[in-house]
Amino acid sequence: MTQEHYPFEPYLISVTRPIAITSREEREQTIKECHYNLFKIPSQKVMIDLLTDSGTGAISNKQLAGIILGDESYAGSRSFEKMLAAIEDITGFKYVIPTHQGRGAENVLHSTLIKEGNLIPGNTHFDTTKAHIEFRKGVAVDVTIDEAKDPSLYHPFKGNLDLEKLEKVLKETPKENIPFVLITVTCNSGGGQPVSLDNIKGVKSLCKAYGVKLFFDMARYAENAYYIKTREEKYRNLSIREIIQEMFKDSDGATMSAKKDAIVAMGGFLALRHEELYQRCAVYSILFEGYLTYGGMTGGTMETIAQGLYEGIDYHYLEARIGQVARFSELLKAVGIPIIEPVGGHAVYVNAGKMLPQIPPDQYPAQALGVAAYIEGGIRGVEIGTVLADRDPITRQERHPNLELLRLAIPRRTFTDNHMSYIAQSFKKIHATKEELKGLRITWEAPILRHFTCEFAIVK
Ligand SMILES: *Cc1c(COP(=O)(O)O)cnc(C)c1O
Repeated sequence: MTQEHYPFEPYLISVTRPIAITSREEREQTIKECHYNLFKIPSQKVMIDLLTDSGTGAISNKQLAGIILGDESYAGSRSFEKMLAAIEDITGFKYVIPTHQGRGAENVLHSTLIKEGNLIPGNTHFDTTKAHIEFRKGVAVDVTIDEAKDPSLYHPFKGNLDLEKLEKVLKETPKENIPFVLITVTCNSGGGQPVSLDNIKGVKSLCKAYGVKLFFDMARYAENAYYIKTREEKYRNLSIREIIQEMFKDSDGATMSAKKDAIVAMGGFLALRHEELYQRCAVYSILFEGYLTYGGMTGGTMETIAQGLYEGIDYHYLEARIGQVARFSELLKAVGIPIIEPVGGHAVYVNAGKMLPQIPPDQYPAQALGVAAYIEGGIRGVEIGTVLADRDPITRQERHPNLELLRLAIPRRTFTDNHMSYIAQSFKKIHATKEELKGLRITWEAPILRHFTCEFAIVK
């Protein structure tokens, strides 16, 4: 027997944090007091928190040491130098603007490049990215392949861009109206679906042919590289690092939320190929984020990013991480829970609309399932359905997306497979009495981004 035959986590757990154990009665009381909004539950009342995989992973002993080693100098911090060296070594980008998190990098880049009326084609832009584009009166043009829309269809790279759709946009739009094309790896809004290396190469040649810049949103670039290695036959013999080099080669730069694949609690950066663009971005960096060698981060945080970037691209780590999410999805399927397939790298999406057909979309089936998961197991997921889709800004009518989903995001290096079994068992119990579950109605909501704060009551 070797690790190769039975891949296990390539680390030991040396520091733990207790879970406060709650009873079902306590949870019924808590969720009622929180008006059935999962965002309002205090973390101490949640046993298994699957709200997000962002900034919730466990840091390593070397990262912890980095917090102490941090050089907290305002200017010229050695910790920045260390982070810069790691980024250049892994991605090939020479110029780096540190930012407080991913959206900070988006703010700096978009302030520099996006003008009113510009088009930014890409594979389903992440919501903060889209918001930053629309805030500048630009348009995020979604050119993802059509296969991505079918939840029952298997495709190994559902994050791929449709090269014909992309070329059409590039052909029909004057070059100066397309500041850049954006590839998000993996495609978060599409369910953590990867983009193939051949597809990335195809996008690169189109960008070159039409003289348009290419950027990446690299939040989960390492998970994407793992999928390329394991699903794209011709690149099987390349190492994760070689695949990453290939992905970023000949592109102009990337925004990074370090809270994802750099496995830190907070931080991000904008990595750039060319000095000229770096100089232009630097102006906004100082304005919004901080001086060029800290950008809203402590020296300790930059040390943990430098270290976390290397840990996040380790093949055995990625195999354990993506393997855990995949095994968890199998456990859910085994107890009859309908999920979206293929499962993505960082989360499992439960098809609540399909599981609870008695609850119509305007009674928020995915929210109802989220409430049931909390009451049953102290598990917190997040609704990706009608509540999140919010109202049309003009008609004020509710928007109903194609699918009503409950997302269960898996933090990195945080839970054991035993926790995953517990979650599956909780869902099995919910499944057994699912006909009894009732829908919800909203009793109060904010004018925008209602999902964070709205209040619900159970439909009698
Ligand atoms: C999380 C995320 C962001 C935004 O990063 P923050 O660190 O949350 O600001 C941008 N793009 C993708 C794909 C993400 O997953």
